[in-house]
Amino acid sequence: MASNPSDPSLRSFIEVAPNSDFPIQNLPFGVFSTESSPNKRVGVAIGDFVLDLAELEARGSLTPAGDARVFDCASINPYMTLGPKVWLQTRARISELLRSNVATLRDDKSLRAAALVPREKATLHLPIEVMGFTDFYSSREHASNVGKMFRPHGEPLMPNWLHMPIGYNGRASTVVVSGTPARRPNGQTKPPQANAPIQGASRRLDFELEMGVVVGQPNQIGTPVSMAQAQEMIFGFVLLNDWSARDIQPWEQPPLGPFQAKAFATSISPWVVTREALAPFLVDGPQQEPMPLPYLSRKGPQNYDISLEVGLRVGGAETIISRTNFKYMYWSSAQQLAHHAFCGCAMRVGDLLGSGTISGPDKHERGSLLELSWNGAEPLTLEDGAQRTFLEDGDTLTLRGHAQGDGYRIGFGECSGTILPPVPPPR
Ligand code: CA
Repeated sequence: MASNPSDPSLRSFIEVAPNSDFPIQNLPFGVFSTESSPNKRVGVAIGDFVLDLAELEARGSLTPAGDARVFDCASINPYMTLGPKVWLQTRARISELLRSNVATLRDDKSLRAAALVPREKATLHLPIEVMGFTDFYSSREHASNVGKMFRPHGEPLMPNWLHMPIGYNGRASTVVVSGTPARRPNGQTKPPQANAPIQGASRRLDFELEMGVVVGQPNQIGTPVSMAQAQEMIFGFVLLNDWSARDIQPWEQPPLGPFQAKAFATSISPWVVTREALAPFLVDGPQQEPMPLPYLSRKGPQNYDISLEVGLRVGGAETIISRTNFKYMYWSSAQQLAHHAFCGCAMRVGDLLGSGTISGPDKHERGSLLELSWNGAEPLTLEDGAQRTFLEDGDTLTLRGHAQGDGYRIGFGECSGTILPPVPPPR
């Protein structure tokens, strides 16, 4: 069974529609539970089913950790700890078990009944225990748009931007899985014409279209990693929405960066798509000029051709308000990780790195309402005639993404959240 799990000609005995996000070439990892079996466990998405890896592990059909259990767990962190060699072997074994020409699972009725759960019966949970969350700012188009808006008479990019991936340390505690509502935050703001700040609910609530990198291998404190090591440390990718309060942000930001404007919620998609599944979609990133310093030097393609879209549902109708691509990012995920560890910062299994808002060169490719409405100056008109500059209570924002292969797609599912009204501030 030597054939490559990413081979486009592979087929599963489970029927998978050509536009499904989860063909046999994908095999993304998630954490799920069912009503009849409420313990959280690790599964892999295949077509409209979830393959229960804990069940296969218990029966001895899939044993990546020998006698130890890594799938009967509430996150994929224990599995990720096993490292890249085991990731490859496990992907190959799962692929084999699901193939149309392999009888092991296909012809074992009782095993199939126990290990294949219809996805509509599965509740999906946060796939990783998020150890740390760092958010970057690596789209040149996004950073330039923001620069033009807020510093109209200066250079669009800050002087450091072309020399390193700019980032800040965010909150791991408020990373939530798709489907979790996002509560409009309270905060301190200073309206431009006011003499003093006020407290209250944010009135300029926004989303940011990003990809998240899931770190699957650690480095020791004090030990930088090479670019090659950084690539090997990446387990996989999710869609990520970095909810942002645009009125809290400008007042609090100087001089240490975003704080409460980004701390109330970050949503991720439930399936972690592995680096191996995305390998066929590697492409060269934009040319980097000036040349990055040696510790950030790229060898070979590090960007991914992943089509992304943003849907905004207001009332009954959804409008696609942006379509862009992950390939536009100026700084790659490996460069972000190598930069993060260069000072000796210890990265941990389960760290999450946000790419930064992904905007493309065209107007319809902007990855935030801040850019799409040009800081509120150009309201968007939606399908049913409603207008929006920023998000209102009850609005549902959904990110989707996939890499298109020959006759199949490597998809991410959805990263969705509905805005809830704020809680009254404490007295
Ligand atoms: Ca962000």
